[in-house]
This record gives sequence, C-alpha cells and structure tokens, in this order.
Amino acid sequence: MSVIGIDFGNESCYVAVAKAGGIETITNDYSLRGTPSCVAFSPKNRILGVAAKNQMVTNMKNTVFGFKRLLGRKFSDPHVQKELKHFPFKVEQRPDGGIGIRVNYLGEDNVFSPEQITAMLFTKLKDCATTALQTQINDCVISVPSYFTNAERSALLDAAAIAGLNVLRLMNETTATALAYGIYKQDLPAPEDKPRNVVFVDFGHSALQVAACAFNKGKLRVLATSSDPNCGGRDIDMALAEYFCQDFVSRLKLDARKNQRAFLRLLQEVEKLKKQMSANSTRLPLNIECFMEERDVSGDMQRQQMEQICADTFNRVERTLRGILHNAKLRPEDIHSVEIVGGSTRIPAVKALIEQVFGKQGSTTLNQDEAVSRGCALQCA
Ligand code: ATP
Ligand code: MG
Repeated sequence: MSVIGIDFGNESCYVAVAKAGGIETITNDYSLRGTPSCVAFSPKNRILGVAAKNQMVTNMKNTVFGFKRLLGRKFSDPHVQKELKHFPFKVEQRPDGGIGIRVNYLGEDNVFSPEQITAMLFTKLKDCATTALQTQINDCVISVPSYFTNAERSALLDAAAIAGLNVLRLMNETTATALAYGIYKQDLPAPEDKPRNVVFVDFGHSALQVAACAFNKGKLRVLATSSDPNCGGRDIDMALAEYFCQDFVSRLKLDARKNQRAFLRLLQEVEKLKKQMSANSTRLPLNIECFMEERDVSGDMQRQQMEQICADTFNRVERTLRGILHNAKLRPEDIHSVEIVGGSTRIPAVKALIEQVFGKQGSTTLNQDEAVSRGCALQCA
C-alpha cells in the first residue's frame, strides 16, 4: 500500500508518491501530470479532470470549477459572493447557510456542497493513483494554502473522508515546497552553522504565497510567511478579458459580458495569449471564430500592454514580496536564494519584481508545477 501526496490547486491538481528510487509524479488517464480541478455532470455520467475541462464550453451550466475557494464558507460570505460573479453554474444558499451547487445530473436537478464536489475530484485522483501504482490507496498528505482557516481545513478533511482517503496530515503549500527543496540539497550548512535562508514564492491561479525558511542539514524552520489570497493568474486573465470586451464593444459592437459562453471562451483564449506573452515580447494575435452572433473576432496584444492593464495585480505582488522581508526581519543580503514555483511565476514581470525586491534572480531548482505535491509525498516517506 502506498501513501500519496496531493497538491489540490484551484486550477489543477498534482499527485506524487515516494518510491525507493525517489519521488514520482503520477500521470492521469490522459497521460498528463496535472489534472484540472474540474467536475462536470451530464445526463449519462459524471465527468472529471481533463475530460471535464474539455467539455466546459459546451456544458457550461454543469461544469464546476473554482471550488477550492468555496470550501468551509457560508453562502453569505462576501468572499463567496465575489467568487460567484464569475461562475456560469448555479450556486445557492442551503437551508443551513452553506453553499449549494445546483447541476443537472442524470437528467435530474441535484445540489452538491463544495465538499462533495471536491470529494468527486479526489476520488478521480485516487483512482488514477490506484491504476498507476497497481495498489490500493488509502492514506495521503494534502496541501493547503498557509492562510486556510480551521473551517476551510476541516471542510477539506470532510471532502477527503467522503472520497475514502485517510489524511495523515494537511501540509501548508509553501512548507511542502520548502521540504521538496531541502531533501535534495546536499550542501546545506551543518546543524551548528549559520542557517541558509531561502525564500519560496508560489504564484498560482488564485493566490500568491511567500515563505522564508532557514535550512540546516536535516532541519527546516519556517521563519515567516506572507500571502495575498486574492491575487493570482486568474486575475490577469480577468483583466485581459475585460480589456478585450471593451475593445470588441467599441470596434465591433459586440458585448461579450452579455453572453456567458462567449465570455468563457474569451477567458480561455486570453489565458493562452497570456502564456504566449510570457515567452514572446512581440505583438501577438487573438482570434476567436464564431464568437457571438455568428461573428468572428480578432484583436492583438503586446507584453508591455498586458503589464499596464494588469498593473494592479503586479503592485499587489510587489507588496506581498516586500512583506516577507518585513515579516521575517530579513534584508535581501541575508537571503541565499529565492526559489520560484507556481504557474504564474513564469510571467516576466513577476520575475522582474522578484529581482527588484530581493536583488537576485528567482531560481528554478524545483519543478515549478510539481514541487508542492512532491513535498507532500516526501512527508509520507
Ligand atoms: P492555486 O495555487 O492558486 O490554488 P494552482 O496551484 O492550480 O492554483 P498553478 O498550477 O500553480 O495554480 O498555476 C496556474 C496558473 O499559472 C494559471 O493562472 C495559468 O494561467 C498560469 N500560467 C501557467 N503557465 C504560465 C505561463 N507560461 N505564463 C503565464 N502564466 C502561466
Ligand atoms: Mg498551487
């Protein structure tokens, strides 16, 4: 029997396992290492992960995503109300004040809690691991954002229990990253020597988390954390989508804000464009066929323009990066290195801010996407 480590991300999940030869990342039924945090319902079945994300646009009302942010919260929570604005699926208040997600499943109306939806995703991850490892899976370590409250942690544990997973430990995402770093570093200072201070920056889909850690051989101490739970890659997508919406209104008299499907497609396309802009500083095209009212649309954007449109997000990033120096009482020269993980640290403007704040380039010692799950798997070893 194996113990798995799960990184439950707002956009995607990764699963790793400790083996004799080291840590291995488990691939899913599509031979992919990441599984979208997406659960969908149809008249015939439940659709999970990659398959769920693939049919999102055509089954918008019954494809649930973004539920990591709903765990352990009440419907009336202002934070929840803010999230709801972006969902194409129906979310309502349950009699007990909790959150109900209303979908059509097997031809009937069903209301599921965020815990139940999360459990469905976990069942998928568990199944993939069972298939890959050819052994039964019961125990796991799951990562959570460092700012998760007790209510959020307890909701996550409920979800795991529904999925038949026994959680040995919930581990903070940044701690998992630090663990993944420490285990393979052969040159850490001896226990009696001055520790090596390393800052970890995880900029993901919905949140930014930073931690400062002190390492000696065999010893890891978290000095401080600093985070912005409301600043992530999705905020950049939203800002870019809003920009193109306005652009289409003024140039083409098409308002995508009035058409959920068009807006969802726009969000998917600007995310692709955003990733291309990370690698390319030239002007890049955006084309969507049959966008709405049977019309095609096109536009373009350059990296510099994106940086202006998303200035608010980058200001927040800078504030959180500076926050770690303050919280950990460290000066940039006290820091040995800054390790970057999370998909959104691939953005050049974010890399530039890291260099500006810490006086050194972010290093990519760790696998940017898999570090958190690997840290969780290590904890079980
Ligand atoms: P969270 O940690 O917030 O719960 P997550 O762990 O699912 O979410 P990640 O997988 O770390 O998030 O990152 C996903 C985000 O990174 C998405 O917003 C995605 O668009 C963004 N991203 C991935 N690659 C790139 C790239 N090359 N350039 C810009 N952004 C990128
Ligand atoms: Mg993450």
